[in-house]
Amino acid sequence: MKGFLSGIGEFRSIDHIKSMCVMPGRGLVGIGDDAAVIKVSPGMVTLVTTDMLVEGVHFDLAYTGFEALGYKSAAVNLSDIAAMGGRPRFYLVSVALRPKMRLEELEGLYRGLESACRPFGVRLVGGDTTASAGGSVGCSSGPMVISVTIIGEAYPGRAVKRSGAQAGDDIYVTGSLGDSACGLAILKARGTGGLNKDEALLAARHLKPSPRIKAGRLLGEGMMASAMIDISDGLSSDLGHILEQSGVGAVVYKDRLPISGGLINTAGIKKAVQYALHGGEDYELLFTARPSNRKKIAVRQGEAGVSFTAIGKVTAEHGAELVDEKGQGRALRPSGYEHFRK
Ligand code: ADP
Ligand code: MG
Repeated sequence: MKGFLSGIGEFRSIDHIKSMCVMPGRGLVGIGDDAAVIKVSPGMVTLVTTDMLVEGVHFDLAYTGFEALGYKSAAVNLSDIAAMGGRPRFYLVSVALRPKMRLEELEGLYRGLESACRPFGVRLVGGDTTASAGGSVGCSSGPMVISVTIIGEAYPGRAVKRSGAQAGDDIYVTGSLGDSACGLAILKARGTGGLNKDEALLAARHLKPSPRIKAGRLLGEGMMASAMIDISDGLSSDLGHILEQSGVGAVVYKDRLPISGGLINTAGIKKAVQYALHGGEDYELLFTARPSNRKKIAVRQGEAGVSFTAIGKVTAEHGAELVDEKGQGRALRPSGYEHFRK
């Protein structure tokens, strides 16, 4: 099947999506009925998370292909399940699409969604489809919108909240920070063509973030993390959420921030540090842990498939402080991305 969605129609488009994806197992109901029927594992609690991406706000089709968009829409939600220390199981996708979208483009979108979800055994069980053209307000074609919902599970009492940090805890991040924000700046300025190896890697970190599912599960199920969040808005902002909800403060050491060689080569050390502190969309995990867990955390990072770097300490005094190489401290204020703020 080929052509525009306006010619193919909603129902045939959904049937086509269904044929592309792995449906849930026996005894369960996926796409095609009025509601899905699913089941989490016996004895587990259910996690639910949803995230919406709007054209012109979160993505630009000028430098994001449909497959990359699908991948990222799923990955940001998987990252939220990771940040709870859970296992993702099922997903739903709601889309507002232009009638002039081609079926091949919709296929690309679902190929991307499935490529993010399949490695974790996460199955598509439903969604909703609507045209984005706002007939009632007279515009011929609104922005494309994609909203993904993921249903996951965790052992009771082991989902890791933002509120569990205590004074004296160590603060860690997975992987490296700032790559995605620099990658976005490159994509905005130059698009995807003619990038050197470092630049291409940074762009890929923006377009194809790796949800840290395994790391999150290890930390949650092994009761190693006291609080956890995924870095979507930037370290300074997302650390702020943990501190606020836990009623504590923090000291972060500038020279301990994990910054990739590629980012330093591309942006220079000074800008690289700014990207690492405030740049969003790395989708790394930021977590706190009691010092008694240090050894366990160091040993388990191999299994997690990503590095764990201690970057600071939780303090009883409120507020976040950034300490430089010379031991001088200054306030670390949240300055990541926030919607509605100018
Ligand atoms: P209803 O009118 O009962 O909401 P729909 O026609 O919206 O039914 O959806 C029919 C089936 O297709 C449902 O199982 C729904 O979950 C699924 N579905 C609709 N749109 C999508 C989509 N974009 N992706 C995945 N599943 C979808
Ligand atoms: Mg519907």
